[in-house]
Amino acid sequence: MKFSRHGILFVISAPSGGGKTTVVQALRKNPHLFYSVSCTTRAPRPGEINAEHYHFLSAADFGARIEAGHFLEHAKLHEDLYGTLREPVVTNLENGTDVLIDIDTQGAATIRNSGDSIVRQALADIFIMPPDVEELRRRLEKRATEKTQQIESRLATATREMELWRDYRYTIVSGSIEEDLEKVRNIMSAETFLSRRLTAK
Ligand code: 5GP
Repeated sequence: MKFSRHGILFVISAPSGGGKTTVVQALRKNPHLFYSVSCTTRAPRPGEINAEHYHFLSAADFGARIEAGHFLEHAKLHEDLYGTLREPVVTNLENGTDVLIDIDTQGAATIRNSGDSIVRQALADIFIMPPDVEELRRRLEKRATEKTQQIESRLATATREMELWRDYRYTIVSGSIEEDLEKVRNIMSAETFLSRRLTAK
């Protein structure tokens, strides 16, 4: 028996500082997985490269793309806009390529309610829960790219986001990077065997 399927849309959300960036970077090494590079109006951090970490856009350019319907979802976080481009995601799913996106809880909620049935059916969402708020504070302070006030704002957002874990199909409690990575990879593997995703040829 031969089977075919559409791509799976892996959505990963984790309160910032949760170690998610490292996990996502490791997953991006998989050449069979398409990583959706988000757009943002936030300024690049040192070392961040345009079109690799984000498409860094002006507020005007971002607004024009909202108007033109280019975003699958977009959300405002910490005074900046973030958004996922629709076209590359949908095209890859249609072609049977799995897609990974790293977005916040608002973006994940928008995707769950997407008007595109291919998007809703493709979705497999994963929440990476920080072990506790104090650990999150330590990780954010260690990163030290933000000012104290920004750390407080990110912690407040993280605490709010942590309450939304039940909305996700999968929740893992963050441990070491290796542990998180293994858990996410196991989830991804199991998702490819879901009978409902398969069409017999
Ligand atoms: P950072 O500014 O630290 O790179 O990201 C802050 C938050 O924005 C993270 O939680 C990240 O998941 C989220 N984010 C990144 N890209 C997008 C996007 O395209 N849409 C939404 N809704 N959130 C995003």
